[in-house]
Formats: sequence, structure tokens, C-alpha cells
Amino acid sequence: MTNTQIISGKDIATHLLETKLVPRVNTLKEKGITPKLVVILVGDHPASASYVRQKEKFADKCGIIAETWRYEAEVTEKKILEEIERINKDKEIHGVIVQLPLPDHISIQKVLNTIHPSKDVDGFTPNNIGELFLGEPTLQCCTPKGIITMIKESGHELSGKNVTVIGRSNIVGKPVAMLALNESATVTICHSRTKNLNEHLEKSDIIIVAVGIPEFLKGDQIPAGAVVIDVGIHRKDDGKLCGDVEFESAVEVAGAISPVPGGVGPMTVYSLIENTIESAERN
Ligand code: NAP
Repeated sequence: MTNTQIISGKDIATHLLETKLVPRVNTLKEKGITPKLVVILVGDHPASASYVRQKEKFADKCGIIAETWRYEAEVTEKKILEEIERINKDKEIHGVIVQLPLPDHISIQKVLNTIHPSKDVDGFTPNNIGELFLGEPTLQCCTPKGIITMIKESGHELSGKNVTVIGRSNIVGKPVAMLALNESATVTICHSRTKNLNEHLEKSDIIIVAVGIPEFLKGDQIPAGAVVIDVGIHRKDDGKLCGDVEFESAVEVAGAISPVPGGVGPMTVYSLIENTIESAERN
């Protein structure tokens, strides 16, 4: 038995939904505005369908509209770009996301370049990524934003702390590093070419793991008392879910750790709905 704090993203998201989001939605509704999110879903990827259901469920609890617009895997890129243009012009729609992955014949970059930044509730467009790097208020990428929210809401300060991010993807590693920097943390970004990863980890107060390798980080790599945020999500051969951290060994040494499932995943969905409300408030 350890005294390690389990940072439940599920509980934090539920608490913030009731105390922060629902009142904001009610204020908008009093003004005749109901926030609306459109999710573009192409093809029948089973994981995507499950992620979309989670988003619809959370939106419903919040009292906002979430519509999923479904397209056959063979749909043309032109048709998807036209649909986004239509959404850009529709004043009743406050946010749009395109569920990834997309079929190979549809360019993710072209899709992102077509979404108007004010409706980009995933925070992936070059404009919004640029604002995030400048530390300006913007619609921030959902997983990084959710990670920072869960660290703060679970009582951990970022300012002055040594934060190590493992992974440098455009959707998690780089933006979460920049958000932590904006919170005045001292940030180290590690990746597949990093030499002596453990030397970087030794000095860390907070470790954010986004490598996409099941149970990559083990307990003996974690300094005693560190906060560990596990971004990864994988299905093991026995059907159970696991993260990028070996939970059983990590929980013995960490001061706090986010579980998988029930950690970063619900915080990502929370941030998406929060961004949709923010977009409705701004527009
Ligand atoms: P990604 O694009 O595959 O990036 C993985 C990163 O890990 C890369 O930067 C890579 O370095 C680095 N890496 C790979 N092997 C490494 C090693 N041995 N040592 C150190 N770094 C290494 O993955 P991602 O999109 O960021 O996602 C990461 C994980 O988070 C995945 O499991 C994904 O499913 C999960 N995820 C979860 C959520 C959620 O809401 N819960 C959201 C997004 C992603 P290089 O750049 O050098 O190749």
C-alpha cells in the first residue's frame, strides 16, 4: 500500500462540468445561445466511433448540442472541405472537429487549414498553435490543456517546477511543453533520440509521458514523490487498457499519478467541450 495520490481525470472532469461548465452554458442559454459542436467522422474506425460517443455523452450532460456528421470512407477531400466551409459560415455552429484518423486520400493539413480558427475547438490549426506558443489567449489543443488543468486541479503547482515531457508530437508533446513553460515551469522535452533519458528524469518534479509505447516508463525511472501524467492509451492482448506508464511499479514511487483509463482521456473530452463553450461566448 502506498500513499500515492491517484489523479482521477474522470472525477475532475465531472466536478468541473457541474461547477464551471453548466453555469456557463446556462448563462449563454439565457441570452438565447446554445453552444453547438459538429464532429466530422469519416469511415467506420471502431475506436473513433467510441471517442465520438464519449464526446456526445459529455456534451449532453453539459446541455450543449453535439452533432456527428458521418461520411463514407470513400468521401472525396473536396466534399469534406466544402462541408467545413459551410460550417465556418454557419452562425449556429460554434466548434468543429474532424475525428482522426482520416483515410489516406484526405490531407489532414488541408482540412486543418480550412477550419476557421475561431471554430477550431481542437486547437490544431496553425493560427491557434501559434497563439499558444506566443502565450496569447486562444482555443488550446484539448489533451495538453486537459493535462495542465488536471495537474492544477489536483493541487500541484507548475511554477518553478522541473517538468519533463517524453514525446514531441504536434498534438501532445510540443504543445503541453509550451503550456507548462507558459505556467513558468522549467521544461525538458525528451524524444526517441534523447540520450540518457533517466538523467533527465532524475531531476523531474512532474513527468508527462506521451510516447505511444505500452508501459514504457517503469517505477525505477521515477524520482520518489514525482507527479506522473500518463497520456498513452493502449489495449493489451487480454483486452484491458493500459497507458505509457507501468502503473503497478510507478504507483509505488510516484507522489501522484494519473490512471489509464480515467486519467487524461476524460480531461481531453472536458477541454473540447470547454473550448466549444468558450467559442460560443466569444462569438
Ligand atoms: P506520437 O505522435 O507517436 O509521438 C510519440 C513521441 O514519443 C515521439 O515524439 C517520439 O519521438 C517519442 N518516442 C518514441 N519512442 C521513444 C523512446 N524510446 N524514448 C523517448 N521518446 C520516444 O504519439 P502522440 O500522438 O503524442 O500520442 C502519444 C500517446 O498518447 C499515444 O498512446 C496516444 O494514443 C495517446 N494519446 C492519448 C490522448 C488522450 O486523450 N488520452 C490524446 C492523444 C494521444 P520522435 O519524435 O523522436 O519519434
